[in-house]
Amino acid sequence: MKILISDAFGPALPEQLARFGAITDDKSELPSADIVLVRSKTKCTPEYIDSATQLKMIIRGGVGLDNIDLDYAASKGVVVHNTAAASSIAVAEQAMAMMLAMPNHVIRAHQTMSEGVWAKKELKRSELYKKTLGLLGIGRIGTEVARRAAAFGMKVIAYDAFVDSHEIATLKGSLDELLAESDYLSIHVPQTPETLGMLNAQTIAGMKDGIRIVNTARGKVVVEADMVAALHSGKVAGYATDVWYSDPPQDSPLVGAPNMLMAPHIGASTHENLGRIGDIIEELIEQFVQEGSA
Ligand code: NAD
Repeated sequence: MKILISDAFGPALPEQLARFGAITDDKSELPSADIVLVRSKTKCTPEYIDSATQLKMIIRGGVGLDNIDLDYAASKGVVVHNTAAASSIAVAEQAMAMMLAMPNHVIRAHQTMSEGVWAKKELKRSELYKKTLGLLGIGRIGTEVARRAAAFGMKVIAYDAFVDSHEIATLKGSLDELLAESDYLSIHVPQTPETLGMLNAQTIAGMKDGIRIVNTARGKVVVEADMVAALHSGKVAGYATDVWYSDPPQDSPLVGAPNMLMAPHIGASTHENLGRIGDIIEELIEQFVQEGSA
C-alpha cells in the first residue's frame, strides 16, 4: 500500500505509518497512491481525484472538508475522513489568544517598545471580564471557547442554526440578535453555502459599535471589503483572523487595514495537535487495513 503525505503534518508521522507500506511526500506519486493525507492546502478537486487512479481513501488532518469535493469522491468510491475531534483545543486556544491580544494591545506594545517609544499613556487596555462574547456556531470549537471565556468572567451567548440549548452559552434565536448584543464575536461555523458572506455590510451594520471579531473558522464567512470599510469607520474596533479567502491571501484588502491581527492559518498547528492528528490517522488506516479495504 502507498500513502502520500501531501501537506504538512507532524515530523513523526512517516515513521508512525511505516508499518502500513510505502510512505511518500512526492506528489508525483499521486497516481499510484492508495491513501492521500491532506490538510487544507491540497485541493481534492474532481481532476485531482481522477488523476489518483488507485485512490481508496482521503484523510483530512483537521476539520473543514471544504477543500475536498465530497460528492465526487463518493461517486468514485473514495472514502473521506477527517480528524474532527483532534483540533478543538488548539483552535480554541488560538481564538482566546487573539481575543486577549486585541484589547491588551499586545502587538502595539511590543512594536512601540521595539521602536524605542514609551507608549504608557496611549496604550489603555480594556478587560474581557463582564463583556459579552457572541459565538457564531457552538459545536466542538465554539464549546471550548465558551468554557475558556466563562472562566474569564465573560457573558457567553451563541447563535447556531442547529443547536438550541447549551451548558454554558445562552442561545439566541437569530444571527441579528447575537450581533446586536456582542462586545466580542468569535466565529466557529463551517464554510457552507449558508455561511458564505454571513458577515457583510448589512449584518455588520447591526453589530454593536466597537465590536472586536475573531475568525478562526473560514475567511469566506466574512466579506473582506465590507470588513475593511467597518475597520476604517471604527464600527469594528478589531478583526483578528487566522483564515483567508486563499492560503496565503492574494491581494487581500485586509492586509494593511487598520486594527487587524493576522495569522497564517495556524489554528490547528500546535505540536500537541499534530501528534493527536497523527494518532487518529494511524487508527483510521489500521481500521481500513483490518476491514480488508487495502
Ligand atoms: P462543528 O461541526 O463541531 O461546529 C460547527 C457548528 O456550526 C455546529 O454546531 C453547526 O450546527 C454550526 N453551523 C453550521 N452551519 C451553520 C449556520 N448556517 N448558521 C449557524 N450555525 C451553523 O465544527 P468545529 O470542530 O467546531 O469546527 C468549526 C470550523 O472551524 C470548521 O468547520 C473549520 O472550518 C474551522 N477550523 C479552522 C481551523 C484553523 O486552523 N483555523 C482548524 C479547525 C477547524
